[in-house]
Amino acid sequence: MPVELLGKSAEELREFIVSLGERPYRAPQIYHALYKEGRFDFAAMTNLSAALRDRLAQQARITFPRILRRFPSVDGSIRYLFAIGGEDTKPAQIEAVFMPRDGRQTICISTQAGCAVDCHFCLTAQLGLIRNLTAGEIVGQLIVALEENREQLAPQTNVVLMGQGEPLLNYDATMAAVRIMLDPQGLALGPRHVTLSTSGIVPGIERLGQEKIRPSLAISLNASSDEQRDALMPINRKYPLAVLLAACQKYPLRPREYFTFEYVLLGGVNDSPEDARRVVRLLANVRAKVNLIPWNPGNLPYRAPTKEGIEAFQAVLVEKGVPAFIRFSRGQDVFAACGQLASMEMGNPLAARREDGLTQLSVE
Ligand code: SF4
Repeated sequence: MPVELLGKSAEELREFIVSLGERPYRAPQIYHALYKEGRFDFAAMTNLSAALRDRLAQQARITFPRILRRFPSVDGSIRYLFAIGGEDTKPAQIEAVFMPRDGRQTICISTQAGCAVDCHFCLTAQLGLIRNLTAGEIVGQLIVALEENREQLAPQTNVVLMGQGEPLLNYDATMAAVRIMLDPQGLALGPRHVTLSTSGIVPGIERLGQEKIRPSLAISLNASSDEQRDALMPINRKYPLAVLLAACQKYPLRPREYFTFEYVLLGGVNDSPEDARRVVRLLANVRAKVNLIPWNPGNLPYRAPTKEGIEAFQAVLVEKGVPAFIRFSRGQDVFAACGQLASMEMGNPLAARREDGLTQLSVE
């Protein structure tokens, strides 16, 4: 079976090249051709000898997620449904969203097919966990989305690990992909332009804090008390708010680094002024900004917050010195939020009946 090269670190590529009996310096040449020059075919890697190109064609491969469908939105976003796996890994469908805006593009990618975390406002949860993605499948979504939109790319690329899956429950593959994204010799994105979004997996947050190179961290808060959060995000029973926020306080934020707390405003559930005041108290000792994401009503049993309610909630946070921004999800007409497309394709009746988008996915 040919060895998959997409997603391998520079060091892993070196080990592979040496195992072929080739000189180690060939590895950075392949890494460069792949991530800097966008040469995805060994025949196009003309910086390698013809003999090595032939050998790689027989003994290695570069496999990208395959586009099954594109869903262009009226707002310019494009949602991709990808097929992955099939040869030596379980076949699965995942999704990514390309969102162009104001001189930049934000690309939301998946880290797992499905998800085991079971947040009650999320359709991906209804798939359960199908499997973890490999590093190549994670970084591959980004490369395909960029290649697809090559003609319209703005200078800045942001990546949000906010598609299907809980990134910190697929830690090693996610971080291997992130390292390629942040490597100046790789895709060369800035750490502040790659954001990992977690439901609050405390051991993963602690581990991330020890990384020398790491993305920005966003945490789905979505509640102002344990009682509320237990009901919306069962993961809270394992890592309750006090434990989660204690991990945030210990996290070695760098100068000018802060946490982003995502807060989906569910009408009548978590959007009262008292909720806002509790959020202020929760975040009192954490360097944080809050993204408020108004819920769009659908068939899940929640309703949208009122415009006045959203603004009043934001005002409480801002008055108390917590930066808070109202965010609306992109691509709602093409179900551009976590898990909806895969759910539709897999015949999930709940998803198929929806005519709007979840508001879980927000972008700056
Ligand atoms: S919101 Fe994220 S962590 Fe929660 S179930 Fe959906 S994909 Fe998983």
